[in-house]
Amino acid sequence: MNFYNYINGEWMAPSTNEFVANLSPHDQSELDAFPDSAEIDMEMAANAAKNAFVSWSRLSYQQRGDYLLKASFILQQKLDEVAIDLTKEEGKTLAEAKGEINRAISTLQYYAAEANQPIGDVISSRNPKMIIFTKRVPIGPVGLITPWNFPIAIPAWKMAPALVYGNTVVIKPAESVPKSTYHLVECLHEAGIPAGVVNCVFGLGSVLGNAMIENPSIKAISFTGSNAVGNAIREKASLLGKPVQLELGGKNPLVVLKDADIDLAVESTINDAFLSTGQKCTATSRVIVESEIYELFREKLMERTNELIIGDPMDEETFLGPSVSEKQQKSVLSMIEQGKKEAKLLTGGTAVATVELNKGHYVIPTIFELESQQVEIARKEVFGPVVSLMKVNSFEEALEVANDTDYGLSAGIFTRDMSLSQRFIDEIEAGMVHINSGTVATELQAPFGGIKSSSFGPREQGKAAIEFYTKIKTVYYNSN
Ligand code: NAD
Repeated sequence: MNFYNYINGEWMAPSTNEFVANLSPHDQSELDAFPDSAEIDMEMAANAAKNAFVSWSRLSYQQRGDYLLKASFILQQKLDEVAIDLTKEEGKTLAEAKGEINRAISTLQYYAAEANQPIGDVISSRNPKMIIFTKRVPIGPVGLITPWNFPIAIPAWKMAPALVYGNTVVIKPAESVPKSTYHLVECLHEAGIPAGVVNCVFGLGSVLGNAMIENPSIKAISFTGSNAVGNAIREKASLLGKPVQLELGGKNPLVVLKDADIDLAVESTINDAFLSTGQKCTATSRVIVESEIYELFREKLMERTNELIIGDPMDEETFLGPSVSEKQQKSVLSMIEQGKKEAKLLTGGTAVATVELNKGHYVIPTIFELESQQVEIARKEVFGPVVSLMKVNSFEEALEVANDTDYGLSAGIFTRDMSLSQRFIDEIEAGMVHINSGTVATELQAPFGGIKSSSFGPREQGKAAIEFYTKIKTVYYNSN
């Protein structure tokens, strides 16, 4: 079945009349097909967002929030159907798909509730008759570009704050997972959101990206994806004077000190390195373990890794499914091959070659042991089920190794030592820090983002989202 773009409140075939097959990562079967849109489709979407902006921005926060709330209830009713589609096109297990959709539902509800929170400040004046206050005003139509690994949660955490704070949006979802984002847009449509407030154009980033950034109606860009694409967008947008928010990659370290609860640290590594097939920007990718417990930790981690069930993500007992696409699987396998030349392979290291799974893009969970971090597998983001172990002799060395990366998204430490965990919080170079928990877990009401080359611009999620999606207007009101 062919699905359409959503422009100005209507489902529209792309001007090209071309569609691209949405393929299952499990067996490469064709699930459905989505538009291969052209620049003109993006232009129509941007125009619709521009035309809808004034009336949308004049609604109250609560009126806008009500649409989000209604969409969240619709999505809740469709949870099972959407979870199946998400699992089929992305490859994460049904349990993880449901978790992601619940996150999207809660995000819509959180920003609907934000409409009732104080927005802006009252500021004292030297003049007793003067009232100074700030008003938050929307930026205008915003462009949202999203990746494939969270195809409903990330669109929700961009769209919900953008909309409640009065912006209209054009979203361009990732090519390989269109159906999940389609469902979210459909829920907003069914919630009765006015025409033009939400627009969604499917197709190639290389075609539609520039058309979005360069369109004069689009006033800001929020992007989640790779560093290469994000940095190119930042360059183009800044030449045009448009604000940009980038959430990019990670090479997230987990430090395990000698006094740690080893079993907890092992379970956390298993979940955070291998769930979603390692395709999370916050995935644990480097585990740095103090020498006293290194051998024991390594043994337990390998034992647990070798027990993991790889398989069809629709099967209940599956722990990890396929990589999202052939391209992604090839990229992971080529980094593993490079890793084999530069580090010691402890387990895994190949694609899955069983008869049942050989049509899919499966990779066996892989562990490397590092002597040094000056190797590609320790420095480049893999975005697959691959983790590296490194032995260190002290907390200081662990911290140095953990910080020896261009990235700074998330980091964790397992220790019972309060003063060392405090030092870790202060000295680790990461936007999100976890004590006695892995690098992945985040909550939607807390700011999300990194430092160094992991992020650029204001944080996403929680109250922090208002910084990107509004401008401050300072009002001097003389009550004389
Ligand atoms: P990607 O950069 O290839 O694609 C992301 C989006 O950008 C897609 O919608 C794509 O179509 C679009 N795009 C591609 N070329 C473009 C161009 N020239 N102009 C404009 N848009 C273009 O990334 P991906 O492979 O979809 O996602 C994986 C990456 O995303 C990983 O590096 C991962 O770390 C990162 N990620 C980061 C976070 C975070 O919050 N920090 C979350 C999830 C994923």
